[in-house]
Amino acid sequence: MMKPVLVVGAGPVGLTMAAELARYRIPVRIIDRAHGRTDQSRALAIWPRTLELLRAAGCVDAFAATGLHARAVSIHSDGRVLGRVAFGEIASPFNYLLMIPQSETERLLEAHLLSLGGKVERDAELTAFVDTGDGVSCTITRAGNGDEVVEAAWLIGCDGAHSSVRHRLGLAFEGDILSTAFIIADVRVAGLQVPSDEPAIFWHPDGAVMFFPISPDRYRIIADIGSVPSCEPTLRQVQAIVARRGPGGITLSDPVWLSHFGVNERKVADYRVGRVFLAGDAAHVHSPAGGQGMNTGMQDAFNLAWKLALVMRQEARAGLLDSYGPERGPVARQVLTGSNRMTRVVLLKNRPARLLRGLVVRALFRIPAIRRALANALSGVMIHYPDSPLNTGGATGSRHPRPGRRLDPGCGVGAGDLPRFTLVARDDAGARAMIARHSTLLKPDLCPPPDGNGIWLVRPDGYVAAAARGGDWPVIDAALTRLAAGTRAATALKQRS
Ligand SMILES: Cc1cc2nc3c(=O)[nH]c(=O)nc-3n(C[C@H](O)[C@H](O)[C@H](O)COP(=O)(O)OP(=O)(O)OC[C@H]3O[C@@H](n4cnc5c(N)ncnc54)[C@H](O)[C@@H]3O)c2cc1C
Repeated sequence: MMKPVLVVGAGPVGLTMAAELARYRIPVRIIDRAHGRTDQSRALAIWPRTLELLRAAGCVDAFAATGLHARAVSIHSDGRVLGRVAFGEIASPFNYLLMIPQSETERLLEAHLLSLGGKVERDAELTAFVDTGDGVSCTITRAGNGDEVVEAAWLIGCDGAHSSVRHRLGLAFEGDILSTAFIIADVRVAGLQVPSDEPAIFWHPDGAVMFFPISPDRYRIIADIGSVPSCEPTLRQVQAIVARRGPGGITLSDPVWLSHFGVNERKVADYRVGRVFLAGDAAHVHSPAGGQGMNTGMQDAFNLAWKLALVMRQEARAGLLDSYGPERGPVARQVLTGSNRMTRVVLLKNRPARLLRGLVVRALFRIPAIRRALANALSGVMIHYPDSPLNTGGATGSRHPRPGRRLDPGCGVGAGDLPRFTLVARDDAGARAMIARHSTLLKPDLCPPPDGNGIWLVRPDGYVAAAARGGDWPVIDAALTRLAAGTRAATALKQRS
């Protein structure tokens, strides 16, 4: 019997991780010390790259049907539109931003996990663990019900920004906290004269006020307020900020959440210690500017799940797991840098700097290529792993994706209940021989290439692992051989289990 993976934390990242492992039929337990799911809207934005991965996971339709499809974001100042970035040209089948409260995201992910046979164990806290070398001995404490010791194969800390897994590993969470605080309000909004499906940012000498649609007349409002206040904001305070900084004529009502938050920007150096991994806010936290936090965490989970599944199924070498941190760490670093820049631009107070900001934004946002580049960068489709230890081979042509790049040939890459690589190549004897030789790692079906001149080996998460010129099969063979578990060792282990 395979030992289970223990996922600690049933936030969006832990739920994604558990559901992906369950999809690949890996025994998994997921615990959360809280009694129930969050009822706060928290992370509102799901970007196209995350939607692509949810599609491969088999649950994107429920998300698309539940959330609001935002088609653009606009920036306003002094009564005019400074710039507007439309999402229609994002290079993804999902060319919109899905606005969906985190409470709904968690509900949908939990339903998906349930459909795969998994279940969240609530009121269950991880209170201790010991890495024994061939597993992790984990103590779960249930209030009033004593302790349970679980012998897990691997432990994954998806336990949020204050991660106790990270603390117990003794990993530093290096970074800083911004000096400015923000208020946050989920309210009904009347009188806002921008399309009801469009996030809108208003710049004012006092600071910014931002409107993010949640449903047709309900918005998340965020505004910077200087230092952290001693008590929660009132609707009247938020209304006063909106009246001063917003476009005028707006009435707020029916608040469901009024709060404030400070911005921490921190990251661990290592995502793994022995048989323990970190993912999501446990590994990185940053400004919500750009709405990347939850997306980055869920993508951590997608990245790790297929690797862990292949290794646990003894179909790939354990060394595959060493690529997780080196791939995801640089992505988090980029997100930290990008969201910090966006936050600083929003917070500019000094008059010459604000004037310059307005001029630059107006000039740049007039250029279609810049608007397109910005939309693609926000969407996550530009995330890639150029320095991944898994990359093999080189470019097959300047227009073709190199190793480490995302490739969406539109043939169900990553879908299904087995973690399999896809061969993107012309259907010929060489391709068929490769599938026969590496039948454990490769899908049985080929995917047609963008043109006839190249061959690509695409990972279950849609990134190119190897690329070669047409017919250069030794490159692909070498990549697969490097990944594969030693055949004899794997067979012996399988016979024993
Ligand atoms: C106000 C606000 C707005 C935000 N807006 C956005 C946005 O627009 N877009 C975006 O992408 N991100 C946004 N974020 C960030 C987003 O909410 C987080 O990135 C996301 O929740 C991280 O998910 P997670 O699963 O890593 O951690 P969490 O959601 O924090 O979940 C961790 C879970 O672990 C559990 N836990 C902790 N310790 C233990 C233990 N020892 N044993 C058992 N269980 C434990 C907790 O109970 C919790 O349920 C926002 C955050 C805030 C606060």
